[in-house]
Amino acid sequence: MQQLMRAARLHAVGEKMVIEDVERPRATGTDVVVEVKGCGMVPNLGNVLANWETWYPQMPLPPRPAIFGLDPVGIVHEVGEMVLNVKPGDRVYVNPGRSCGACQSCAAGTPQKCDYWTLNGYFGYNPNSLEMFKRYPHGGFCEYMRAPQTAIVKLPDNIEFRQATRMGYLGTSYAAVKKMGPLAGKSLIINGASGTLGVGVTLVALALGISRIYAVARGLPLLQRLQALAPERIEIFSNTEGSTATWVKSRTGGAGADLMVDTLGAVASLDSLKDAMHGVRRGGRIINIGGTAGDLSIDVKWWMDEQMELLGSVWFTSAEAIELAELLRNGTIDISVLTPKSWPLDDINEAISGVASGDGGFTSYLVEI
Ligand SMILES: [Zn+2]
Repeated sequence: MQQLMRAARLHAVGEKMVIEDVERPRATGTDVVVEVKGCGMVPNLGNVLANWETWYPQMPLPPRPAIFGLDPVGIVHEVGEMVLNVKPGDRVYVNPGRSCGACQSCAAGTPQKCDYWTLNGYFGYNPNSLEMFKRYPHGGFCEYMRAPQTAIVKLPDNIEFRQATRMGYLGTSYAAVKKMGPLAGKSLIINGASGTLGVGVTLVALALGISRIYAVARGLPLLQRLQALAPERIEIFSNTEGSTATWVKSRTGGAGADLMVDTLGAVASLDSLKDAMHGVRRGGRIINIGGTAGDLSIDVKWWMDEQMELLGSVWFTSAEAIELAELLRNGTIDISVLTPKSWPLDDINEAISGVASGDGGFTSYLVEI
């Protein structure tokens, strides 16, 4: 007999989401069904719903009516007959990263390189993502969602569901910091340091041993709060006051920092990114995990002459999320400075527009289900 569940669905871009009864999924094969307890509200979701198909026509949204929701957490309700290592009752985060599971990239543990790479409940990266949305139509803004067993990340007992809805942005930060290599003795520019990703990178880089952080953003109050986390390791700069590159070079005897990460949002200007890049020393590494878009003019002679490394990093693997869960369990990464702010599912539309109401990256926004 068909069972129903409540879900928030978007019927058309530009409309509000509506709460309605839809068919509840069942678990078969290697899939599991999770009873959703909460789902992170990405600060960028309003933008994605309103603008994505215009800005990035190559990146499809899930077909409407669609259940969005990028960062679900909950309790495993049912597992398919082929599932190993996941059982009903497990407290879990559901990694929304989807891929085919069978190509060379997937087999190598690099699903982001798969032709079917998709962020479930959010958007895809090319038309192949429509196949993934067909197979996994549930984001986290509903009561039960189906997901492949490879997406399941068990949560430690000392991490609440409300905190765990931040796993997506923390995981993205963690994957970027891992790409920086050993951090001892190194310095890092974080451009957009007080935002959701920026605070995440700060927490992860401090935990993993960075020696010095040059934290850059516009407003000083949140930067000062960030600096208070480790005053002996963090210096702050408001880029409304001048050039980030000039400031960092003045703090490093003219050399520049070893590393830089850009975490700015989708509507940020490229000038800020470009300025921060030039605060990086010869042979430095620059990683982009932000949403800034557009053509960036780069002097390729500088790139070669100074042996610069430019890297993109998108999301993370389930293996990285499992590592992150352990670092949260044992206290290596302390997220007690992040304050959850939640709405019930019925107030989903208020939640989408409410993401500017907190303290930048210090607030974790979520919907409780
Ligand atoms: Zn694949």
